[in-house]
Amino acid sequence: MSSARILDGAAIANCLRQDVAAQIAAKRLTPGLAVVLVGEDPASQVYVRNKGRAAEEAGMKSWTHRLPADASQKQLLDLIAKLNADKDVHGILVQLPLPKQIDTQVVIAAVNPAKDVDCFHPLNVGKLALGLLCLEPCTPQGCMILIREALADLKGRKALVLGRSNIVGKPMMQLLLRADCTVTVAHSKTNDLAGECRAADILVAAIGKPAFVKGDWIKQGAVVIDVGINRVDNPAAAGKTQLVGDVDFAGASQRAAAITPVPGGVGPMTIACLLRNTLKAAEGTDSGLKQKA
Ligand code: NDP
Repeated sequence: MSSARILDGAAIANCLRQDVAAQIAAKRLTPGLAVVLVGEDPASQVYVRNKGRAAEEAGMKSWTHRLPADASQKQLLDLIAKLNADKDVHGILVQLPLPKQIDTQVVIAAVNPAKDVDCFHPLNVGKLALGLLCLEPCTPQGCMILIREALADLKGRKALVLGRSNIVGKPMMQLLLRADCTVTVAHSKTNDLAGECRAADILVAAIGKPAFVKGDWIKQGAVVIDVGINRVDNPAAAGKTQLVGDVDFAGASQRAAAITPVPGGVGPMTIACLLRNTLKAAEGTDSGLKQKA
């Protein structure tokens, strides 16, 4: 029996998406989101389809640009240059990972920072680190909303971010720091991961290893945010697979005060925050978001 409160990311994300849709209608804006997919990775195809659909449901324009898996870096950069120049496009999202012939950092740096709704561009990463006004990266932004749902006051809380990727771990650290948490970032070279986890009031797991974080690593009363999305064999149905997170959900639920499920936790929040960022990017061109930052 689970004792933890389940943080229902799907329901919270739904409210956020409705709020974005209401703002778009009230402000008579038509934000435009261009999503670029290179190759045929099945998971990426699902993410891109979901993002495009969510954008349209919120009242945005959305375009999906597909390039073949053997597309050159120049082809991709040419496409990004067109999207940068297109005044109907307010947000550009290049779905990662990219095929190995393409340098991801060159591509990220080619996106107009004002249209960088993922907040991956070095300029925006720098703004985030400096505490300046900027769009907040989608997945960490969604995690923060879920954490605040569980905890009224984050000041002085010990937060552990498990994983140090540029997409999740590092920006997560920045947002927790902004919220006055005392933040530790752990990774594959960390000594005594279990001990680091046991000290954490807030644990954000983003490593991509199914059920890696054990139930008895969780501090009693902690808030557990599971970013991991891992496809594994379903023991209850031969030949079928299922999605699980990086945390042993059943074990952790015995000790945590609040925990996110997988699926239905962080995943839907990421998409909702992408819509929020696209709306802000569309407003920024008129309302001076760039100038204030
Ligand atoms: P990366 O592979 O880029 O980074 C993984 C991080 O985990 C690295 O910092 C790595 O450490 C660390 N790590 C790996 N193995 C261990 C280990 N055994 N012990 C401790 N640390 C370890 O992954 P991402 O950050 O891109 O994604 C992480 C997970 O989150 C994935 O499952 C991904 O699918 C999911 N995800 C979910 C999203 C959502 O919307 N829900 C959005 C983005 C990602 P080191 O640096 O030392 O190698």
